[in-house]
Amino acid sequence: MKYDCIIVGAGPAGAFCAYEFMQKNKDLKILLIDKGHDIYNRKCPVNEHKIDKCPINKLGISGCNPACSITNGFGGAGAFSDGKFNITTEFGGWLTDYLDDRLVLDLIKYVDSINLKYGATEEITNPTTDKIRDIERRGLAVGLKLLRSQVRHLGTEKNLEILTKIYEDLAKQVDMRFKTEVADILVKDNKVYGVLLRNGEEIYADNVFLAVGRDGSTWLESICKKNNIHMTHNQVDIGVRVETNDVIMEEINKNLYEGKFLFRTSVGTIVRTFCSNPSGHVVVENHSGTMLANGHAYASKSLGSNNTNFALLVSHRFSEPFDLPNEYAHQVSKLANELSCGSIIVQRYGDICKGRRSTQKRIDEGFVKPSLKEAVPGDLGLVLPYNTMKSIIEMIEALDHVTPGIANEHTLFYGVEAKFYSARPEIKNNFETKIEGLYVGGDGAGLTRGLAQAGANGVYVARCIVDKL
Ligand SMILES: Cc1cc2nc3c(=O)[nH]c(=O)nc-3n(C[C@H](O)[C@H](O)[C@H](O)COP(=O)(O)OP(=O)(O)OC[C@H]3O[C@@H](n4cnc5c(N)ncnc54)[C@H](O)[C@@H]3O)c2cc1C
Repeated sequence: MKYDCIIVGAGPAGAFCAYEFMQKNKDLKILLIDKGHDIYNRKCPVNEHKIDKCPINKLGISGCNPACSITNGFGGAGAFSDGKFNITTEFGGWLTDYLDDRLVLDLIKYVDSINLKYGATEEITNPTTDKIRDIERRGLAVGLKLLRSQVRHLGTEKNLEILTKIYEDLAKQVDMRFKTEVADILVKDNKVYGVLLRNGEEIYADNVFLAVGRDGSTWLESICKKNNIHMTHNQVDIGVRVETNDVIMEEINKNLYEGKFLFRTSVGTIVRTFCSNPSGHVVVENHSGTMLANGHAYASKSLGSNNTNFALLVSHRFSEPFDLPNEYAHQVSKLANELSCGSIIVQRYGDICKGRRSTQKRIDEGFVKPSLKEAVPGDLGLVLPYNTMKSIIEMIEALDHVTPGIANEHTLFYGVEAKFYSARPEIKNNFETKIEGLYVGGDGAGLTRGLAQAGANGVYVARCIVDKL
């Protein structure tokens, strides 16, 4: 049997693509493939069996077979997240590099309406209150741009319920195969004609949409390389996680929950705040063997700390002769790991300004008690490049005008925090590569970094394919 389209990856990009095909023409033959499980069987053995370590599967590789159930399968990488659906084109991806701003927003609103149809809460944040305008005005006065967005908090349990209902509707019309890994695409005379599965099976289609997410980005790179599709490396974001007392962040926490600010520094870099966690904890994230700072907050107030943490990230782009942004960020972060004997460094802002390391004594004397006890007091000045450190200092001083006290000497910086992005294949404005019928989208193609734009991307690709069929 030949399909009209094979979609590889059942994350938001792939799932909403399948959904749109279903809406446009019920007679289309669509196949959705994912190497993870269907929505009912995405169960992490660590949680299911209350064990403290990921079990070793038959291949001798840690994790579920063939792919980790937390990040793979129907619903994709964020299926178990609390699902913050951001209705904005200002962040969450780069679709506006290809499509008109208004169109991207319409697509995002369309995906939002699908979530609502399947039971999402009607509740949505209002980013235009007088208080928020006041915060915005104070920010603009010192060169800080507040990125405002309506946010629909789907909530972890609700997110899964919505995904299950979408899955059940899709299953009525779309063929779906899970625990099925695509190994290659089939191409002849510069035209795609199907996919090759890991088990050697070939499946045929005139169109293939690769929506493989961050987990599949290395595989996507290898496919592009093999088929001479040029790729450009994206930016990499490097910076620190800032931790301060809740009381200093009270106004932002109360009115915005997360204040997303952008700042252009005197050295020409762009710094942004990211992932704010009121009453949260700083944590260590193991990213392929590199230890990075990160943060989270429990929903339950009883588990909360008295501190708020958020990231300050500086975007770095490279061109030639060196163009390996992710590798660069790994190297910088690994230096912090070396200097802290395999952990991450914590330093008081006051010590950074004085050009001296933090010691355990200085941290203990500070007014902000570190929520991450294992961080090692040290000197981030020995790790972060001059422009990066200067950018972070300028940003925190600017933020001090909006949240007075954030730049006090007791504020803690943990480093390094880094955000990696997938490389981007060369595509036309309809997300088709130079191989006829081969489309790419979502986080894996370096086009999006969030639920909203990933879903919007999938919907748009379905519409483009339907138009040409
Ligand atoms: C813990 C966590 C929390 C998050 N919270 C939020 C949030 O609150 N708000 C927000 O906007 N964003 C959030 N995100 C980001 C969001 O989840 C992603 O931006 C989004 O899922 C990307 O969608 P995607 O479809 O491009 O890729 P993914 O969701 O990554 O889906 C890709 C799918 O492709 C499959 N796949 C990969 N390679 C192959 C192959 N070779 N063969 C078959 N299948 C393959 C994978 O199994 C996977 O299921 C979060 C992410 C994580 C990890």
